[in-house]
Amino acid sequence: MSDSKDRLDELIARLREQGWRLTPQRMAVLQVLASSGDHPSVEQIYERVRSDFPMTSRATVYKTMTLLKEMDEALELGFGEGGSRYDGNRPDPHPHVICVECRNITDLELDGLGKLVEQVHGATGFQLVSHRLDFYGVCPQCQALESQ
Ligand SMILES: [Zn+2]
Repeated sequence: MSDSKDRLDELIARLREQGWRLTPQRMAVLQVLASSGDHPSVEQIYERVRSDFPMTSRATVYKTMTLLKEMDEALELGFGEGGSRYDGNRPDPHPHVICVECRNITDLELDGLGKLVEQVHGATGFQLVSHRLDFYGVCPQCQALESQ
């Protein structure tokens, strides 16, 4: 969490560059995003923002998230009908591990990911621009609940 202040400053700077007016509501969205490590949905962001800024509308949250996505400052993880979750801390593609019980999403550091990308390029000739790597399972907390 020590990076969340830095990330918040970064997001503010990027939006200012784009000529965006930073209303308290938009600031609150950025703050929630920078301090959330659990890849929240727009609905979750909305709820967290509303506890401090009850006047915030869903539209403000959606608009801010759309803008951040367009600026490549938020990574969207789409799950079809399961909706989308967002990482505003690391907008670059990176692997995730997802709990099929509680839907918690955690970042994952993997050795050899660079090699894998090289391998894909070598095997297909594709100039790779992105990738998505999700692992699914039951998280330790849910395992503990199940064994009770
Ligand atoms: Zn992530």
